[in-house]
Amino acid sequence: MSAIYQRARPVRWEDVVGQEHVKDVLKAALEQGRVGHAYLFSGPRGVGKTTTARLIAMTANCTGPMPKPCGECESCLSVRAGSHPDVMEIDAASNNSVDDVRDLREKVGLAAMRGGKKIYILDEAHMMSRAAFNALLKTLEEPPGHVIFILATTEPEKIIPTILSRCQHYRFRRLTPEEIAGKLAGLAQREGVRAEGDALQLIGRLADGAMRDGESLLERMLAAGTAVTRAGVEEALGLPPGERVRGIAAALVSGEK
Ligand SMILES: [Zn+2]
Repeated sequence: MSAIYQRARPVRWEDVVGQEHVKDVLKAALEQGRVGHAYLFSGPRGVGKTTTARLIAMTANCTGPMPKPCGECESCLSVRAGSHPDVMEIDAASNNSVDDVRDLREKVGLAAMRGGKKIYILDEAHMMSRAAFNALLKTLEEPPGHVIFILATTEPEKIIPTILSRCQHYRFRRLTPEEIAGKLAGLAQREGVRAEGDALQLIGRLADGAMRDGESLLERMLAAGTAVTRAGVEEALGLPPGERVRGIAAALVSGEK
């Protein structure tokens, strides 16, 4: 994972770009103490599903002042560092055996180590085997009060209906080029790097809706010391320069060879 991506990881709801239809509902519910037992976050990769899951985890166990998550208390800091003992991020693709889920079910029953909520974030949830789904279903049917499950997936149609019906389903959408460019502009500024608006717009379009892709391209350019200009982006990606493309397009239109 790239450094800029880690530094850029939101610690407050306001920092999550776009996804207002998800953010506003979740934030309001959490503020009123209405925390669900099971959530399903679906949508393309790199659009904020795991980030939002971590924000829920932070909010649920934050010991700091309102508004939560404070991002600075011991609990928030350990979620950010990925070291909170009660926040488990599980890659469903590589932990999808019945034994894995049985093991998980046993641990789910135990109280949280720090006395708060236990949060299980199941990434790539559609990769679970049928047997694993069924084992998970048993837990979702009678969820212990101290547990929150957050399933994240790019393919919600592969989640079995009995699981779906027990989850609050939030659909994340592709980010717009403007949303991505806006976030990257803030990052460049924080890094003390000058970035052409035109270049960031191009990255925003090329990222195809995924913030993570935009961030990693910017990161690559900064690491290589490439100027964040339109030409720099084209070069970093091995694209033909825009001027040449326009020349070729014009030639095609006018029928020149
Ligand atoms: Zn906190």
